[in-house]
Amino acid sequence: MADTGRAVEHVLVVGAGVVGLSTAWFLQERGVRVTVVDREGPGAGASWGNAGWVSPGLAIPLNEPGVLLQGPRSLVDPDAPLSIPPSASPALWAFLARFAAHCRWPSWERAVGANLPLNTACLEAFDELERAGVATTAAAAPVTALFRSPRAAVALLGELDRIGRLGLEVEHTALSGEDARALVPQAAGTIRAAVRMAGQRHVDPGALVAGLAASVRERGGAVRGGFEAASVHRSGSTVTVVSTDDEPMRADAAVVCAGAWSDRLLRPLGVRVPVRAGRGYSFTVPVDAPVAGPVYLPEARVACTPYRGALRVAGTMEFREPDDAPRPRRIEAIVRSARPYLSGVRWSERTGAWVGPRPVSPDGMPLVGATRLPGVYAAGGHGMWGLTHGPVTGRLLAERIVTGRTPAALAALDPLR
Ligand SMILES: Cc1cc2nc3c(=O)[nH]c(=O)nc-3n(C[C@H](O)[C@H](O)[C@H](O)COP(=O)(O)OP(=O)(O)OC[C@H]3O[C@@H](n4cnc5c(N)ncnc54)[C@H](O)[C@@H]3O)c2cc1C
Repeated sequence: MADTGRAVEHVLVVGAGVVGLSTAWFLQERGVRVTVVDREGPGAGASWGNAGWVSPGLAIPLNEPGVLLQGPRSLVDPDAPLSIPPSASPALWAFLARFAAHCRWPSWERAVGANLPLNTACLEAFDELERAGVATTAAAAPVTALFRSPRAAVALLGELDRIGRLGLEVEHTALSGEDARALVPQAAGTIRAAVRMAGQRHVDPGALVAGLAASVRERGGAVRGGFEAASVHRSGSTVTVVSTDDEPMRADAAVVCAGAWSDRLLRPLGVRVPVRAGRGYSFTVPVDAPVAGPVYLPEARVACTPYRGALRVAGTMEFREPDDAPRPRRIEAIVRSARPYLSGVRWSERTGAWVGPRPVSPDGMPLVGATRLPGVYAAGGHGMWGLTHGPVTGRLLAERIVTGRTPAALAALDPLR
């Protein structure tokens, strides 16, 4: 029985990214009819061009204290991996102040703990989709982190130990540069150390989103583009989603999964935890030898993934409005920072430049659960790890909506915290 005291038969999902489509899919598993609306269409936000890592071992919150050390450079160097524009709005400054306040070990550990149930169950949620015939494109492969400085490798090993003590065990092996080159043909001669992390997967994220949308439709759901939600209301037992330029839509319940655009819809529903766009860029480059698995360049803050016979390269965190124009110099900065680590990559032949907004919360925890308006829910704010955590989030929220009971895994992710 849902919060409204009646059985939920039809749910409107706002936002057709990996979180919205997963929520719709798992609601269907529980016999609920779904209509997914998106202002553009499936995969129009962060869910398309991301690095595609389904990586429970690396999905740790952004608010690590070390991030603060990047603060000064992020303000003055427009090519820094973390970038804050000098023209930041008062709302963005307020968000960044709140984020900085959470960059302390106790807050970070709390966020690791809150995300842990998602890390633990995320692969199983992907398996469930696959067993039901969804084309997830998931492939299992270790992630190899490459370092030019052995000291930086020690820092990653320390981080893996730290998260291991918090309950997130990652099977990993430290390698020499030579060993890394034997396993990763793209590792350049400059690589002096590496860390290989087992138990991870990667997907073609655009294909995953398309596969989810196709499955939702095949099972009788509607997925509709060109519907921009402006506000969500309730009268009696009906929830209404009002559009900027379309007829309103009605259902028994609604879920706001609008990624980095969620704030405008969620604030009037009593959600005070802001979600801001941490924009990242990606592009694809041809490679001379096949890429065996994801390659992580922690010193450059770049993620590389096998993608359609080539390499998708992704990076940077730029705090700007989600709809601001892309800035090509950010792509050039990624190329400059990643080039020294990789060989056999034809950088000048790159294609598919893309920018997408990670939905970042200030405390490193997503927002998943009920809003103040009965029958209206939020799911988002997964920051750097919404692809990894999307399906399991959808599964847990579907349980919450249909049963009216909050699963233990969602207790810390309350959007009204
Ligand atoms: C460069 C980069 C690399 C990344 N790599 C990884 C990775 O390797 N692994 C990982 O787990 N995560 C990764 N992420 C993070 C991941 O992409 C996001 O966390 C995830 O896609 C968020 O999904 P979402 O469904 O919440 O939001 P989105 O995918 O942004 O979807 C939100 C949707 O809502 C729609 N919308 C917005 N406003 C409205 C409205 N008013 N009405 C109707 N529709 C609306 C949008 O059009 C959009 O389609 C990466 C992100 C980036 C940018």
